[in-house]
Amino acid sequence: MAGAKDFIFKERITTYINQELSEVEKKYGKDSRHYQALALQYIKSPLENVLGENERMRHYESEMHLMFEGKELKGVERLYERTILIEPSSVCAAHCRWCLRGQYPVFSLREEDIINFAMYCGSAEVKNELKEILITGGDPFMVPQRLKLIIEQIKQYAPNIEIIRIGTRVPIQDPDRVNDELLDIFESAKPLKVEIATHINHPVELTAKAREAYKKLYNVVFKIYDQTVLLKGVNDDYETLNELYDQFRYLGIEAHYLFHCIPMRGMNHHRTSVEKGLKLIRQMTSSGGFSGRAKPLFTLMTDLGKITMFEGAIVDRNKNNELLIQTNYKIGTFKKRNPSWKLPTTAMEDENGYLRVWYPNVED
Ligand code: SF4
Repeated sequence: MAGAKDFIFKERITTYINQELSEVEKKYGKDSRHYQALALQYIKSPLENVLGENERMRHYESEMHLMFEGKELKGVERLYERTILIEPSSVCAAHCRWCLRGQYPVFSLREEDIINFAMYCGSAEVKNELKEILITGGDPFMVPQRLKLIIEQIKQYAPNIEIIRIGTRVPIQDPDRVNDELLDIFESAKPLKVEIATHINHPVELTAKAREAYKKLYNVVFKIYDQTVLLKGVNDDYETLNELYDQFRYLGIEAHYLFHCIPMRGMNHHRTSVEKGLKLIRQMTSSGGFSGRAKPLFTLMTDLGKITMFEGAIVDRNKNNELLIQTNYKIGTFKKRNPSWKLPTTAMEDENGYLRVWYPNVED
């Protein structure tokens, strides 16, 4: 389960990843970047007991506390106008130590919660805005029957939904799970467009088996796109990122976000500074060494949601090395999408009514 009880986010590693760790160790050695790229992502470190200031339990507060047809909408978040998010279960094949949902409570939605969600998506109050659903968790590939139910119910109750996005790391954590049962679900979802979102962070994760899994998916879904997380010691150098995004090109995986790693509880040791991310993205986008078709957006996950970095985005810095980030969000827009939304204590309005938010930075 991506999720914690008593703040403990357990180590969980698949047999497949353990085999990969052994093979990579034999081939390159324990100190190699290749081995460390896997080990740092999955093996629990004593550094997780070192808690820094400003670390958090959730990456942002966007849950909806809404009733629909007399029932509570469960496992639902909404930050963006056209997209709503549902988490059917917190189960994952393996636990990525940097996970932004590592401290979420463990849960699983019931069939009636999913039907209620689908009816809400097609209801008069949201159907003119909502176009996309993001299914996340946990890893939805771990609960294919729940995934199937969501797709069926959306087709039945919410014809306004055109795209279903599904976040998964199963193809690189347990690729045998990308089987006919799963592929049939995506095939039968048509004409809905299914997009698969993945976090692939190092080329070593793209083994022959993982590639095969992505190829099978590629044949039945609309798109596959990637959201790499910038991780200290894993991929925080130009050469690794160049090789990784080159591999995406050959697999037909679109580059989407390069996320700065969020300060989740006990996970500070995985973070680079924001400045390092900016330096890398400058090299990646403006040095001629990167394919123009493989350039990601360097993005911070702030308390207000994602902010893709632009010139002038950092408007201030305080003595705790927090950065004040300018956004184009306004309070009213959040409230309209999610009436239970509250302005985080880290955010404020500027003189034009746009929001700014403090974001915790680290030294390299
Ligand atoms: S698979 Fe996704 S949700 Fe699960 S632990 Fe990894 S990043 Fe978190």
